[in-house]
Amino acid sequence: MSVAVRFAPSPTGLLHVGNVRLALVNWLFARKAGGTFLLRLDDTDEERSKPEYAEGIERDLIWLGLTWDRFARESDRYGRYDEEAAALKASGRLYPCYETPEELNLKRASLVSQGRPPIYDRAALRLSDADRARLESEGRTPHWRFKLEHTPVEWTDLVRGPVHFEGSALSDPVLIREDGRPLYTLTSVVDDADLAITHVIRGEDHVANTAVQIQIFQAVGGAVPVFAHLPLLTDATGQGLSKRLGSLSVASLREEEGIEPMALASLLAKLGTSDAIEPRLTLDELVAEFDIAKVSRATPKFDPEELLRLNARILHLLPFERVAGELAALGLDDADAAFWEAVRPNLSRVAEARDWWAVTHAPVAPVADDPVFLAEAAALLPEEPWDLSTWGTWTGAVKARTGRKGKDLFLPLRRALTGRDHGPELKNLLPLIGRTRAQKRLAGETA
Ligand code: GLU
Repeated sequence: MSVAVRFAPSPTGLLHVGNVRLALVNWLFARKAGGTFLLRLDDTDEERSKPEYAEGIERDLIWLGLTWDRFARESDRYGRYDEEAAALKASGRLYPCYETPEELNLKRASLVSQGRPPIYDRAALRLSDADRARLESEGRTPHWRFKLEHTPVEWTDLVRGPVHFEGSALSDPVLIREDGRPLYTLTSVVDDADLAITHVIRGEDHVANTAVQIQIFQAVGGAVPVFAHLPLLTDATGQGLSKRLGSLSVASLREEEGIEPMALASLLAKLGTSDAIEPRLTLDELVAEFDIAKVSRATPKFDPEELLRLNARILHLLPFERVAGELAALGLDDADAAFWEAVRPNLSRVAEARDWWAVTHAPVAPVADDPVFLAEAAALLPEEPWDLSTWGTWTGAVKARTGRKGKDLFLPLRRALTGRDHGPELKNLLPLIGRTRAQKRLAGETA
């Protein structure tokens, strides 16, 4: 049986680091096993689902390189949910309930105040045909609950190990709303069964759903998949990420924070696993290293600073071809490999290359507070063509002439040539600045 997994986001908001980590882990799992990765949009919540969020999800996944082999949208599949719901009603596993939300709240509150778990009391199962007719004549429309079997539910979770629930400790879940719409608990199972999903890898917030859904798989005659529930990411203090979701959206990491896709992937593939987090330049490397058995049950902490540090380490390794598009998008159409290799050791984000482009290709106000020395140095500038050896040849000559060395030699030259105290190696920058500009800057002119 070939492995089939799915990533099933609800298009009700932007993808954030927590969601996209699950997409990545599913994708890595599929690629490692030579299986398929399905993107399924869980869009049956028609009030909250928006086409722009669906587009955003696709854009984010493509940006990360997480291409999908199959695509499904729940809103295309209402016919199938209706069929399964009709079959479950016919077999008595789906039963009509008439309580209002207020009545249900009162029941829950009363159970909780007695120190009992807030499990639905199945009062609706005791209604007679006449009771139901009366309720409906009062204008009530039923919602429908799935009748759980009060037997143990067990599975071997790929992350949590053996998991055990008692069916009697769970509330019969509502699968069909009063307005007739099916809910996620049902739709997800029908899809996973129809699309022959073999492994469901999702967040541990779904563990209790799994207990219920295993019984639904059995009731609809679907093969029960293998489950893996990953602990959810928290921030550095152990709080859930939900409060900061806006700033931790994939879109804002890409567009505002300047994070490279492989920085995010390198971090999220390893966070919460036994592997060290190291920069990786391709998803293939992450596939080779992936093993779901390495995912720990401990809560992984997501630290935006760690992501930025990894981004810098990735940039220091990325070849020009991999950033040419981004540089062009910044307006640096003429940037070439020599420029990129000169500046990348100094970047945490690609956009910072603009500053160094300005230093090599636009007028710079030099800091020329040692004019006599700078004039001597300028007089020794070799003729062009310049290459990576020019800096060494030139400063060797300046050193011999002036007797200066170390910081006394190099800092005034750097300040005059770049207008700054720090930056990329001058050996690399000097040929990009060129002789005309260099000479003027050494003379204190803005050039
Ligand atoms: N749409 C659900 C969610 O985003 C999918 C959960 C699942 O993977 O089954 O939580």
